[in-house]
Amino acid sequence: MLVENLHEVRNRIRKACERSGRNPEDVTLIAVSKTKPVEMIRELLGEQTDFGENKPQELKDKYEVLPKELRWHMIGHLQTNKIKYIIDKACLIHSVDSLRLAQGIDKEAGKHGIIMPVLAEVNMAKEESKFGIMPEDALEFVRELSVLPNIRVKGLMTIAPFTKIPEENRIHFQNLRKLLVDIREKNIDNVDMCHLSMGMTGDYEVAVEEGATMVRVGTGIFGERDYSI
Ligand SMILES: *Cc1c(COP(=O)(O)O)cnc(C)c1O
Repeated sequence: MLVENLHEVRNRIRKACERSGRNPEDVTLIAVSKTKPVEMIRELLGEQTDFGENKPQELKDKYEVLPKELRWHMIGHLQTNKIKYIIDKACLIHSVDSLRLAQGIDKEAGKHGIIMPVLAEVNMAKEESKFGIMPEDALEFVRELSVLPNIRVKGLMTIAPFTKIPEENRIHFQNLRKLLVDIREKNIDNVDMCHLSMGMTGDYEVAVEEGATMVRVGTGIFGERDYSI
């Protein structure tokens, strides 16, 4: 069943690429497995390599018991004291939203002798309830991150508002893409603005049409989450 869901999501991504003249190979599907048991992830082995988690401890626990060829994306809000759980396990941290956090990641990466790829999280709709820097501060923020030697900025991420009407989020995806292009044109040293992480179960097709290179789909693959257990 999960494999069928996965194929359905991939099909929809392919169709969104066709509609917008894009190559499906330029879009990475991240299966968001947060709250879901390891057995469900195992059902997708051989089919899917990129998984997303929003809690450092959960990412670490799953990493440890699953095959090492899987790629783990840290997509949730990250506290500085939790960086150590994931620094050598995540392939990309999507949720860098403060200089303090970036400095913490830089320091931990330095200890491990690695350069950590990160995305800057931008709060495109300026929602009070969401993390992320304001769009107008994004350029300056990326400049600040660019001087940290052990991280590498790879692009931008956003969590669009929850809505039943995906079209409502198109403007936010368009604006994130414009922001990426604007920052890329500044040619900041050590910054490689190539990734746009945007789109979730409710709106990933619109996000792909607007240039997403990574979509983060949880419910559409694994079903509804139950936070009560
Ligand atoms: C949970 C989560 C997702 C996936 O949400 P769905 O609506 O279940 O697809 C994507 N991105 C982030 C940052 C999340 O926390």
